Amino acid sequence: MLLFRSTAPPFVLPPDHLIIPDIILNDDFQHPTKPNGNQDLPCIIDERTGFTLTLRELRERTYRLANVLKGRWNPTPGDIITLFIPNHTDYPVCIWAGHLLGCTIAPTSPTLTVDELVYQLEIVRPTLIIAYSENVGTALKGAGSINLSADRIVTVDSMQTSNESALVPSLPDLLAKESPVLQFSGHKLGPGEAKKAIAFLCFSSGTTGKPKAVAISHYNAISNMLQAATFNRFNENYTCVEEQRFRPGDVCSGVLPSYHIYGLMMNLHIVIYAKMTLVVSQKFDFAEMLKSIGKYHITHIIIVPPQAVLFCKHPAAKEADLSSVRVCMMAGAPVTAELTEELVVRFPGAQLGQAFGMTETSPAVSMWPVTQKVGTPGSAGQLVSGTVAKVVKEDGNLAKVGESGELYIKGEQVALGYYKNEAATKEVFVDGWVRTGDIALFQANGDMFIVDRVKELIKVKGFQVAPAELEGHLLAHQDVADAAVIGIPHDYAGEVPMAFIVLKSDKAMAVHNNIIIETEARKSIFEHVSSTKSEHKWLTGGITFVDTIPKSLSGKILRRVLREQVKISQTKP
Ligand code: AMP
Repeated sequence: MLLFRSTAPPFVLPPDHLIIPDIILNDDFQHPTKPNGNQDLPCIIDERTGFTLTLRELRERTYRLANVLKGRWNPTPGDIITLFIPNHTDYPVCIWAGHLLGCTIAPTSPTLTVDELVYQLEIVRPTLIIAYSENVGTALKGAGSINLSADRIVTVDSMQTSNESALVPSLPDLLAKESPVLQFSGHKLGPGEAKKAIAFLCFSSGTTGKPKAVAISHYNAISNMLQAATFNRFNENYTCVEEQRFRPGDVCSGVLPSYHIYGLMMNLHIVIYAKMTLVVSQKFDFAEMLKSIGKYHITHIIIVPPQAVLFCKHPAAKEADLSSVRVCMMAGAPVTAELTEELVVRFPGAQLGQAFGMTETSPAVSMWPVTQKVGTPGSAGQLVSGTVAKVVKEDGNLAKVGESGELYIKGEQVALGYYKNEAATKEVFVDGWVRTGDIALFQANGDMFIVDRVKELIKVKGFQVAPAELEGHLLAHQDVADAAVIGIPHDYAGEVPMAFIVLKSDKAMAVHNNIIIETEARKSIFEHVSSTKSEHKWLTGGITFVDTIPKSLSGKILRRVLREQVKISQTKP
């Protein structure tokens, strides 16, 4: 079989009865990748206020919160807690307190609209929602729609920004009222159970259709953390501590949203596991990020390509002192060779390169290896330890070195499947392999290149947009007879959604004859999306009226044809 195997040093499997907080908070956990670090160094810092928790304080706060949750709501193992909050120093506290109680965490974007939240809540059916003062109104409406009583909502902060935030308790108040119990005997798993116990339900649309909840076990998440950290200790090519990628005492920016798998694992979990310091930004603001790099002597930035573009193009980046940055990792969407080369100029001397991953692989699949200070420009890196890939060509045969085809991945990081969705699971998780929906090729040295995407997914600033979700929503518009959505290239966002719309015949006629009616129809359709969907899903790529949507005999939208049409229209003078 033509398989591509990781050439990284072997990966020592984690015990299969441990849950995530066991390996991060507990120093009894011994692993070749686990650094010994001082528990009293700053572990997590709020970028804006400077509020700091050490690892010891983080652990004590996690135990205290677990006691509070148990005392007030007494969740049973297997219950689901939805985290509907922005990045926060208590983000990991909420996750791990839930895990210690045997609960599954469903992290979700704090800016979801009511409709989007209801969609997710209907799938995961949480018994508790941890919200934020600013979105508690949305949380209350969402909870109402799944008959979750309002007393099952709590806010992570105690700001009274709205009347609604006064209606629910806040974690800081509950923690302050409780006597500080600094111990918690967590839910214990038996041998093998961590392979089945779901740590996270993270939303992804996979290769087709609407967003689905990916079930990531504790074992998946722990494995991926250790796989990604393996190079830190094991590589015989670097004996020099200076060249280790993640070291205790290093300081990492925390601008990626913690609800997305990339931010959740590669930013939040890995950094705390590595006993580094995470500087948490509630919301990405480039000017603030530049200031923080100087203020907190940030050594690591973990970013998406649009943020890399800002470092290259934004005038303020030229003025900023970026000399503390030693490592720059990019992932979440394609990174061109040119962008990598421009970044090297901005961060001379830094270790810099790409990683590739997806929610369904918890997430890391590849990363530029430590043997390359700067990853091969344009390459998504090499397979992380313990990972096997195959590349399936259009004719069904396996690709050799240099040939492209659909990428399949096998490894301990491959998630359990889509929660309560057997049909979608069967399509994507096949015999231990996960179908990525990405077109890749490998070179002889192990460098992997992602050259195209065959799945329906659109990536806007690294965020997922599922065409099927927008198409379903567009069909609910009174004037729309049929709709198709594709991603079109965008200099900053990477891609943006564009819609092809077939109008109902009377409207089509009116639009055909009158430019004002056409403008109004376009505005109305745009607002139909913007009034109910998060901003990255808005149809900023435009709306084109067409007579028919090209479809295959089985009724599948031929997106490739639409993409070609866009290319042709863009090349016309
Ligand atoms: P998500 O599940 O939101 O992390 O999205 C995963 C998808 O993002 C992958 O299947 C790819 O299509 C895309 N992606 C992630 N990292 C990269 C990368 N380095 N290069 C190209 N595409 C990427």
